[in-house]
Amino acid sequence: MSDTNVEKIVKPEEEWRQELTPEQFYVTRKKGTERPFTGEYHDSKQPGVYRCVCCGQELFDSETKFDSGTGWPSFWAPIQADSVKTEDDRSLFMRRTEVLCSRCDAHLGHVFEDGPEPTGLRFCMNSAALKLDPETRNKNNA
Ligand code: FE
Repeated sequence: MSDTNVEKIVKPEEEWRQELTPEQFYVTRKKGTERPFTGEYHDSKQPGVYRCVCCGQELFDSETKFDSGTGWPSFWAPIQADSVKTEDDRSLFMRRTEVLCSRCDAHLGHVFEDGPEPTGLRFCMNSAALKLDPETRNKNNA
């Protein structure tokens, strides 16, 4: 499957609810946020590729993960520019940029402009939206 030609995955909410844990469903399909320092990956340094917990699309390489101190897994770039998409989020009296899986529209987290070089971006993700795949290496960096 080519990541540059993203084929959408659309499922009824009930189907997602059956396939996901309550926490995964709340975060990805209801735009929820897990409590900081509680997720599986916030301090993980295991190498691999982080996939969308809903549809399996490759989202982030562990090479771009950094310790943001926020309690959420943070990355300075997606694995491909079109792996994720962003939307304006004005909820909770804030202006933020929401990050979603480009294939299945899963809510992943938000992106901020206070990240490290080389991009200066901080993709602040929910562990519950991700699934680390330690077997897959990013072929583009091989
Ligand atoms: Fe997805």
